[in-house]
Formats: sequence, C-alpha cells, structure tokens
Amino acid sequence: MRFGVAMLVIYVLSSLLLQSRSTANVTSIPYTSFTQQVDANNVATIHATGGSIDGTLRKPQPVPGGTKGQTYTTFSTFRPIFAQDTVYATMVKNGVQISAKSAITQQSWLQSLLLSLIPIALIAGIWIWISRRGTSMLSGFGNRKSSTPVDVSTIRVTFADVAGIAEVTAELSDVVDFLKHPEKYRRLGATVPRGVLLAGLPGTGKTLLARAVAGEAGVPFFSASASEFIEMIVGVGASRVRKLFDEARKVAPAIIFLDEIDAIGRARGGNALGGNDEREQTLNQILTEMDGFTGREGVIVIAATNRADVLDPALLRPGRFDRVVQVSAPDAVGRAEILRVHTRDVPLANSVDLTEVAKSTPGMTGADLANLANEAALLAAKLGEETVTAADFANALEKIQLGAARSVVMAEDERRRTAFHEAGHALLGMLVPGADPVRKVSIIPRGHALGVTLSTPDGDRYGYDESYLRGRIIGALGGIASEELVFGVTSTGAESDLDQLTHLARSMVGRWGMSPVIGRWSALTEENLVTATYPPAPATLDAVDAEVQRIVGECYEQAQQLLRANRDRLDGLASALLERETLDARDARAAAGFPSDQPPSLVKPAAVRP
Ligand code: ADP
Ligand code: ZN
Repeated sequence: MRFGVAMLVIYVLSSLLLQSRSTANVTSIPYTSFTQQVDANNVATIHATGGSIDGTLRKPQPVPGGTKGQTYTTFSTFRPIFAQDTVYATMVKNGVQISAKSAITQQSWLQSLLLSLIPIALIAGIWIWISRRGTSMLSGFGNRKSSTPVDVSTIRVTFADVAGIAEVTAELSDVVDFLKHPEKYRRLGATVPRGVLLAGLPGTGKTLLARAVAGEAGVPFFSASASEFIEMIVGVGASRVRKLFDEARKVAPAIIFLDEIDAIGRARGGNALGGNDEREQTLNQILTEMDGFTGREGVIVIAATNRADVLDPALLRPGRFDRVVQVSAPDAVGRAEILRVHTRDVPLANSVDLTEVAKSTPGMTGADLANLANEAALLAAKLGEETVTAADFANALEKIQLGAARSVVMAEDERRRTAFHEAGHALLGMLVPGADPVRKVSIIPRGHALGVTLSTPDGDRYGYDESYLRGRIIGALGGIASEELVFGVTSTGAESDLDQLTHLARSMVGRWGMSPVIGRWSALTEENLVTATYPPAPATLDAVDAEVQRIVGECYEQAQQLLRANRDRLDGLASALLERETLDARDARAAAGFPSDQPPSLVKPAAVRP
C-alpha cells in the first residue's frame, strides 16, 4: 500500500521533471494554424525536434482562441505522424530558416542518463527505507547496537578498568598482542586464535574484558547478544550474523563479541526453547564464518556464556572457540581491587577500609561490587555528606543483600508469626555446629519477604561437606518448624525456604553422590534437570525423590528437636525482634541468651532466608 503511494509520487515527480522544458511566451498552436501561417508566408524560422516544432513568425498573429488583442510571434506545435502535407516544400520555397534534431537525442546523454536514474534511485532509496523500517519494527533486535562499531576513542575500556582477575587478563593479553602485531605471529606460521570463550557467572566482567581487549588493541568492538538472533523472525538470524562478520571484516582488525552464546550454541538434541531450526541456522552461520577465516582478517570472536557445560562441542573444536577462559567470581583480594577501581572517583572517608568491605562480601561479583560502591555513594549524597563513610557502605550492603525495606503495616498476628519464623532460622544458625554465622535478623518487610535472616560464611568458600549442607537444610527448615512448634499451624511464608532446601537436597542426592541408596554417580545433572537431554530412568527419579524425602525428613526432625529444647532462647529472640524489628549479630546472640562473642561485622551475603 505504502509502496504504491511512493511509486505514484515518483511517477508524478519525474514526469514533471521531464516536461518542465516549456518556456515562457511560447504559444502552443494547432498544427493547422501552423500550416496556414506557412501558406501565408508568415513563418520566419522553425526548429524541429522529431515531431515537435518551435518557430517564430514574421508578423504577430492573434492567439487562436485567445482574448482580443492577444498576439504571438513565438510558437510551438506538433506535427501528426500521419500528416501528408506540402508544408516542407512551401517553407523551402519561401526561404524559412529550418533546423532540426533527432527526437532521440533531444537531451544530452548525461542529462537523459540522470533523468532516467532519478526514478530508479528514488525507488531504490524508498525500498531500502521501507525494508530498514520493516526489520526494525518487526524485531527490535538491537540493530544499532551491533551494526555500529563502538567508537573506540570515546568508550575506551582498558585492562586498568578490569580488576581482581589478573590470571584472565594475562591470558587475554595474548589476543591483544596478536591484534596489535599480527605480522609477528604470521611470520612464524603460528595459527592465530579465532575464537575465545569466556565462561563465568553473570556480572563477573566478561563483557568488560572483551571491551578491554578491543580497547587495549585499539580496534573496533562489535557486540551482539546471541539470544537476540533467535528472537527474530525466521531466517534473519543467519543473515544478521553474516552482516555482523562482514562489517567487522571491513574494518579489521576488530573484535566481535557474542554474549550469551549458549542461547544458540546449546548441544543439538536438547529441547531448548525457541525455534530449533532458527537456532541451528544461526549457529551454523557463526561456524561457517569462523571456518572461513584465513587467519589474515584479524577478526577475533570473543563469546561469553555462563553455561559452558551445555555448549555444542562443535563450537569448541579447533579453529573455533578453542580457547576457553574461565572467569570466576573474585576472591577477597580481588574484591578489594575491584572496589578500588569503582571508587577511583569517589571521595572516601578515612573510616572506609576497602579491604574490610571486601572481606565482608564473599560471593559477590564485579557487577555486585560496582553496584555496592554506587549505592554507598548515593546514600552519602542523599545524606548531604562530603565523603562516603563506612556506615554508608554498611547500609548499602544491607540494602543490596536484604532488599530495600517496604513500608507495609503488618497485622499483629502476622508480625508475631514472622518474628517466630525468623527467630527459628536465626536460632538454628546459632545452634548447628559449623553453620554460617548469623549476621542480621529482621522482621521489616523487604521485597516479597516479610522478614529475613542473613547468615554468611566468614571467608570465601569453594566447596561444602555433607554435614554443612545438612546444617543449611536444618537452618532453612527453622522458620516452618518454629511456626509449627509455637502456633501449631504452618503458613505460606516458607515457600522459598522449601524451594531452596529441596534444590539443595536433590543436588546432594543426584549430583554430589551423598545418598547411599542412589550411590556415587550423577543420577541428575544441573542440565538434565532442565532439558532432560539424558533423562534419568523413572525408577531413578523415584529413588531420588525418596532419598530427598528421607534427608529432609531427618533434618526436620532435628530442627524441631533443637527448637523444642531451646524454647526459651526462641522466645527471647522473637520478643526482641517484635520490639526492635532488626537485630545485628551481637544483639541477636544476646537476645537468644548466648555470649555475644561474635565480632561486630559488616553484613555478608550468601544465604538470605525469607
Ligand atoms: P558479564 O558480561 O560477565 O555479565 P559485565 O562485564 O557486564 O559482566 O560486568 C558488569 C559490570 O560490573 C561492569 O561494567 C563493571 O562495571 C563491573 N565489573 C565486573 N567485573 C569487574 C572487574 N573484574 N573489575 C572491575 N569491574 C567489574
Ligand atoms: Zn523463612
């Protein structure tokens, strides 16, 4: 429809252009008037271009059909193709000055070329315009983001912006060196890396690293998210990939960054979401592009995933993403360095010790820490402070870990139930040997939760033994066990506790070989729980469920016993909560009748239990 309108406009415009040669003061006369003037020997000159004739008269004549007194001496007319007249002989006899030109060459070749190109150019332009608009309307797949290289001079990220993961930056500096000095490698016949896979949890800095590689090498950075490719209309994913690689090749050396590669790079056969055909076509296109590299293009593809385990092995074959670089969450030293990077432009009070803040944030990623530094600065600004203080950091951390407080008024019986629920979690956290210390207990509603108990390890933990995991389950059952003990009924408030502990128990049984009934093998894997690539036999699943029930049942038994035996501590903790709403580690221990020997410390993450 729109296209039809455009055609009409073009037609009108171009015919106007072609016909606008009419000149002023020329009177258009019928051919018969012209022959009469010839016969009257009143024609001085004519110039014929094909059948169209321009001419001048010797004496002015009245305009045919014109108003009275209107005359003309310059005229134009058109000779009918079928005219059989003696006009020409008469004009020659009368000495009329005659000139003529072929109709075909009436415009110069350049003129006619231009004129004939105008409509074509217009049509092409409009066609491109429509198709551009069309695709961006249809999908919104971030055309802008990936088809324009990020200007390296304006958004220049370097390794100096990436902290706490020195091993990774060291590995990637090879890639930088290759991009900067390709001839050094080619001379020795070394095969150049084509693809690097960065594997790590979200927020660990994979995108930042890829940008830094481009920044260090001073080359353009193209980025696209693989999930965008398959969101699109069928058949477009592959062509978008082709376009992305073409653009990068044009300005090579360059970096192409493909985020969330697992969205299209999942092993075939798994019943991943979305159109499988589209996914495979897109994946194949990426592989084709990479296989087509001769090693001279200087285009290096960096892909990122947090699910390296599910990737199609075809992606990891030599010549493709054959370098896999693990990007882990930083340790305490690394966290301090990251905090330093993100407080470079923040005026810190003397009270702030970033090493201490780092110690109190085990498990946090670079993105979490960047967020923490920003939240602390925001709080300081809100309070009108000159500098960001240690208290700002503590409060920002609490807000991030516990969620922002929600102002709702809880009915008194709901408050009481919440207080006993949280007191149950917290008390078991104090009673179970080896459990992560309780840092904070609160019955202020935050997010979806009516209350929270925060307990986190003292340092970085990398593995857990079975008794620790059982302790976690016992602690998670503390809320519902306490509700049952005190009120005789339970509530919906334990849903997410149960989700967490069920996941933990299933993993113990199915993934970590902690059930004697199942045995020491991977009856379940993280992956087959989701996509059932290798679905466990129904009998295995039944056995896993039975074992999960047994373990959780034993833990519940223990939780109830511990709470019953320590009912006075539970009551003390609950009433302190009802009175003060939030208790830190020291106060919570005191309220439960324990010596408050825990050092006051910043709150730390890990297990947050609603
Ligand atoms: P990913 O791609 O792994 O999900 P990003 O690279 O997008 O993570 O990280 C998000 C933000 O977190 C970065 O822009 C940066 O501000 C911060 N960040 C993450 N890791 C680091 C790090 N190692 N050093 C400094 N900042 C980091
Ligand atoms: Zn709970």
